[in-house]
Amino acid sequence: MAESQLTPPWCGVIGQPITHSLSPLLFSKLAQRLQTPLAYRPIEVGPAALKPFLLGLRAVPLLVGLNVTLPHKRAVLGLADWVSAEAQAVGAANVLAFTHGDMTAHNTDVMGVHATLVSNRVQVAARTAVVFGAGGAARAVVYALGQLKAAQVVVVNRTLAKARCLVRELQPHFPATVLVARQDAQVDVAVGLVVNATSLGMQGQAPSNMVLPPWALPDAVAFDVVYRPAVTPFLRHARRAGYRPLGGLQMLVEQALAAYEIWFGAWPHSQKLTRTLMAALQREVRG
Ligand code: NAP
Repeated sequence: MAESQLTPPWCGVIGQPITHSLSPLLFSKLAQRLQTPLAYRPIEVGPAALKPFLLGLRAVPLLVGLNVTLPHKRAVLGLADWVSAEAQAVGAANVLAFTHGDMTAHNTDVMGVHATLVSNRVQVAARTAVVFGAGGAARAVVYALGQLKAAQVVVVNRTLAKARCLVRELQPHFPATVLVARQDAQVDVAVGLVVNATSLGMQGQAPSNMVLPPWALPDAVAFDVVYRPAVTPFLRHARRAGYRPLGGLQMLVEQALAAYEIWFGAWPHSQKLTRTLMAALQREVRG
């Protein structure tokens, strides 16, 4: 990428694959709304190239920050000069910030989940939630559910060892919430929330065939972190089973606004801005 083509300051998103990312569109809409110059680039970086790529960035002028997506959210923790307490506790970072040659790692996915659940009035406190998945997104979801004082969070994952590792690492942060690792969702209490935090159901991926818990509270919510397509197979299935569906687009917008604050020290957040950005992305994810 020729630096001369970039208008300062510049940011971007790294991952592999990266073509599906909505972040470039999101940040271009945000820059338009805020009437601020901001270049934002999607950059394809594979696992083997991650370390040399990040080392090479230290000398790049006017680079403010990067979003981090699959498969690097854990790997960047070991490469940063400083890791926020939250990213450390979650065990994943989705934001890197560059200041004076230092690279710091942060997690704004937690804030994205937290804000989405609170603003949609999802009752979490003192209830049981089931979370499918044990990767970076699931870690952020479980952390947010701990913050919101869930009574119990059942982490269901195809690879049980990964669910157990998540529970072992996050449980000490939330003594009031019981975390349980399982390979199925056969919980014996009525749940208030089910979350798909796997990559299943993403456009081009296998649809979700998750078996929902046997009992749900009357106002139970199904939240899918997957945002493309807007109505995922998981949400369709859960809606038929009586859950209120909640898509992942708001989480995407909320975590991006929190990243913007880390990079620029300004908090551009308002419900109106969130809604405007969601509407701008809606067209892209419909289908
Ligand atoms: P990840 O770390 O790679 O984790 C993927 C998870 O999906 C793992 O638990 C994996 O299970 C499970 N999985 C994958 N294929 C499966 C299959 N065929 N059957 C059963 N389970 C399967 O990925 P991530 O970073 O957590 O991201 C997960 C999803 O969240 C992605 O679609 C991503 O786009 C989305 N996301 C959305 C937002 C947002 O702002 N809305 C933010 C972050 C992520 P195993 O452990 O058994 O492999």
